[in-house]
Amino acid sequence: MTTKYIFFTGGVVSSVGKGVTAAALGRTLKERGLKVAVQKLDPYINVDPGTMSPYQHGEVFVLDDGAETDLDLGHYERFIDIRATKVSNFTTGQVYNEVITKERRGDYLGGTIQVIPHITNEIKRRIGLVAKATNADIILVEVGGTVGDIESQPFLESLRQLRSEVGRENVLFVHVTWLPYIGATGELKTKPTQHSVAALRSIGISPNMIIARSDHPIADELCDKIALFCDVDKKAVVPMVTASVLYEIPLLLEKAGVAEYVLKMLGLEERQKPDWKAWENLVKEVKRPKPEVTIALVGKYVELQDAYMSVREALKHAAVQAGVEVNIKWVHSADLEKDKGWDMVMSADGILIPGGFGSRGTEGKILAARYAREKRIPYLGLCLGMQLMCIEFARNVLGYEDANSSEFDRSTPHPVIDLMNEQRSISDMGGTMRLGLYPCNLQPGSIAAQAYGVEQIEERHRHRWEFNNTYKQEFEKAGMLFSGLSPDGKLIEIAELTDHPYMVASQFHPEFLSRPNRAHPLFVGLMKAARQKAGITDIDLREQG
Ligand code: GLN
Repeated sequence: MTTKYIFFTGGVVSSVGKGVTAAALGRTLKERGLKVAVQKLDPYINVDPGTMSPYQHGEVFVLDDGAETDLDLGHYERFIDIRATKVSNFTTGQVYNEVITKERRGDYLGGTIQVIPHITNEIKRRIGLVAKATNADIILVEVGGTVGDIESQPFLESLRQLRSEVGRENVLFVHVTWLPYIGATGELKTKPTQHSVAALRSIGISPNMIIARSDHPIADELCDKIALFCDVDKKAVVPMVTASVLYEIPLLLEKAGVAEYVLKMLGLEERQKPDWKAWENLVKEVKRPKPEVTIALVGKYVELQDAYMSVREALKHAAVQAGVEVNIKWVHSADLEKDKGWDMVMSADGILIPGGFGSRGTEGKILAARYAREKRIPYLGLCLGMQLMCIEFARNVLGYEDANSSEFDRSTPHPVIDLMNEQRSISDMGGTMRLGLYPCNLQPGSIAAQAYGVEQIEERHRHRWEFNNTYKQEFEKAGMLFSGLSPDGKLIEIAELTDHPYMVASQFHPEFLSRPNRAHPLFVGLMKAARQKAGITDIDLREQG
């Protein structure tokens, strides 16, 4: 069967939820029995987001094969419930890297290397890799940025070329735009949408569908106007008002008949009737008033919540499963060092310390871990959150006052967290951490093993430092259980306290594998312990239910 493509472009402004919209549309197609694959094209010159500051880019989403990718991949995996691979995300940097390497090798036999055709050919080749790797019926390709950006032009040109190469009947262009609201007159404006469509058409692409995003209700006449000015079927103008619950978007697209329209345009038939029961229940459950549990998320990029996108979503999934509403308090770890923000930590029913790099704010996180241990507050540590839990334990239980990670203090006499052996010879920072899926054996009877309910798991990693086994026995004697180990027993993957309601931390990132309908066991464990801490009883849960 011919592979079909849906290309998503963005208009007017970025951050209007193009990724979520594409992911939600993917779900409506999967519900119809079609195999859906995804790809995100990022116009920046970094080879991948792995070396970028979370302030610039938000979270780095790690895939099974260790690819460090855009956070939109997280939306795709969560909404469509797929496991993507490295072909699903590439950047301008990767494209140029490849072309320049070939040029230096002499592959072009003296030719002049140009954006068209060399760069565009490489872009098209990479889009083709998804079809090969996945054998999908439909590939959703999202172009990062906004139409009109200089950076994204080669991508758009490649898509235009692809349309004729694979046949117009196999390609659909969906343009996601934003309708600004003018407060003084109380109206939404379509002009910027018209301009961005005009910009798209000037490079030879006429969108087949426009998804118009807004924070305000969108009147039918406005959709008529967009259809008329932008030369798109009325049925293909989809108003999409910001939803209070992210996971409602597939249902909204379903109601708007988007999947049916898309299939008709692509000449595809649905293979099964969509069954939305589980999603409807999920959304109903999210919206239902429930007793509240407060989690203090102690991080250093908390000003930008996108930096912890998957952690936030995983907390929400777990809350649904535990029958509670999660109220996340975003605590800046550096504040704790200055005696600020403690009210949020002290009033929380659970504390979560996510991943991170560099020493800024680590002392504040260590203070929070100490508070969790001493006051018996449920605690979940992710990657750096495990390392800091161990440092805190070494300092305040074992009495090694100057224990640290050699990441933060190279000359610490007690490097309880140390650089992994295979990392010692590495000088390049990009793509060289311990990345991706690795197996881990669980200690039967431990909190972790009970949470997972199995003996072996596989989780996604992204780190250079590890627990230093020289200290293992001492830690164990003092009450720490290393309940998850790499199969050769050499790497500590999960640490937990034996004398604590729930102080569990992992060297891996469980947040990447959490799904809306399949919350991650370690997050569910935290949420249930926090629920208990909040004094919410079974009766409360039933009465509210
Ligand atoms: N900086 C730590 C390391 O590299 C933790 C990484 C993380 O939290 N993802 O090991």
